[in-house]
Amino acid sequence: MGKELHIETKCVHSGWQPKKGEPRMMPIYQSTTFKYDTTEAMGRMFDLKDDGYFYTRCQNPTNDLVAKKIADLEGGVAGVLTSSGQAATFYAVFNICEAGDHVICASAIYGGTLNLLGVTAKKMGIECTFVDADASEEELAKAFQPNTKAVLAETISNPALVVLDIEKFAKLAHEHGVPLIVDNTFATPVNCRPFEWGADIVTHSTTKYMDGHAMQVGGAIVDSGNFDWEAYGEKFHGLTKPDESYHGIVYTKQFGKAAYIAKINAQLMRDLGSIPSPMNCFLLNASLESLPLRVERHCYNAQKVAEFLNAHPLVEHVNFAGLPGDKYHEMAKKYMPKGTCGVISFELKGGREAAVKFMDSLKLASIVTHVADAKTSVLHPASHTHRQLNDEQLVAAGISPGMVRFSVGIENIEDIIDDLTQALEASEKS
Ligand SMILES: *Cc1c(COP(=O)(O)O)cnc(C)c1O
Repeated sequence: MGKELHIETKCVHSGWQPKKGEPRMMPIYQSTTFKYDTTEAMGRMFDLKDDGYFYTRCQNPTNDLVAKKIADLEGGVAGVLTSSGQAATFYAVFNICEAGDHVICASAIYGGTLNLLGVTAKKMGIECTFVDADASEEELAKAFQPNTKAVLAETISNPALVVLDIEKFAKLAHEHGVPLIVDNTFATPVNCRPFEWGADIVTHSTTKYMDGHAMQVGGAIVDSGNFDWEAYGEKFHGLTKPDESYHGIVYTKQFGKAAYIAKINAQLMRDLGSIPSPMNCFLLNASLESLPLRVERHCYNAQKVAEFLNAHPLVEHVNFAGLPGDKYHEMAKKYMPKGTCGVISFELKGGREAAVKFMDSLKLASIVTHVADAKTSVLHPASHTHRQLNDEQLVAAGISPGMVRFSVGIENIEDIIDDLTQALEASEKS
């Protein structure tokens, strides 16, 4: 065909491509193991000398087909699926870091990533410096150390909705000889492809828009193939020097541009085993077929909801990059001209008490610890995800007591606005 296919087409056709007489729908290889005819044939696979499947903890054909689709959507050379978004972030870092190393991460980041890098990775000897993504290049450059191995950030942060200047971050990372890892969960490759702006690795919580139906937790890692590990051979010795646990193979030599993902499969999956089930990957694949349609509707509805809330007398403030007055409006127009995502946060004039009454009065929107679902969802960070913090600590974390996180679904916009209207009215009554 020559010409690169559009993302809508890739969402439907990438990955499984049946030949004559094969099933139209991707088969689920619900098998832990795979059969061989000779001892030698299987042995060669254990040495990574032959390509093939032998045990699902290492690789499974169904999982790989869906990873291939997601890699294709992002414009990467290889991908791998994980059992959760958390596992994806951990593997993306741990694949190139070990005790004694250091990473840099934007402070406006998903709470799970904050804990992973700030608390758990620290126990493994990996230190993290959190930086304000909006700071100047000079300011950000100060965070780099000789042992820095990666920079992490989110395209649109959850829940603060900060839009990342990807080019600025990529430039800084590359000037210091390290890759930029971007969590593209909220934007999805439909709205932004971070590789086109210089990112090297992309991660996803596929639990969010990619699944989109609140069915399964999962994650993905995609490599652009652009980072030159061998140019910094000592720093990334896990990729460029012999792996003794595989009889001395060198990933960059054996797998070329796919070295980073090959190492995750061969080493991290083998030893840590955060694989998704083939059944879940099958469900994810079906969801991905409609991703562009759903994302378009999420963005359309969110824009309408943001405009409605922004004009409402009981609402103090709305965070949504689609609003012309938003701090990140220009950045969003550059990196996500089609729209950002369906998540909005806003604050009620009546503070915490009004927020709770508003939420309890919603009829269509459901109170759930989830975002990016087809069903409109709502969460009160002060009562839920950040419940342990007092009001002062909440403000320090950038969350006000009256803040509501509203994830706009794909229902009819009139019904969503009607629900908001009646719940806002109810929030005023005592
Ligand atoms: C939810 C989320 C994660 C973690 O994903 P799980 O699938 O819940 O483990 C990571 N990053 C972002 C941006 C998320 O929203």
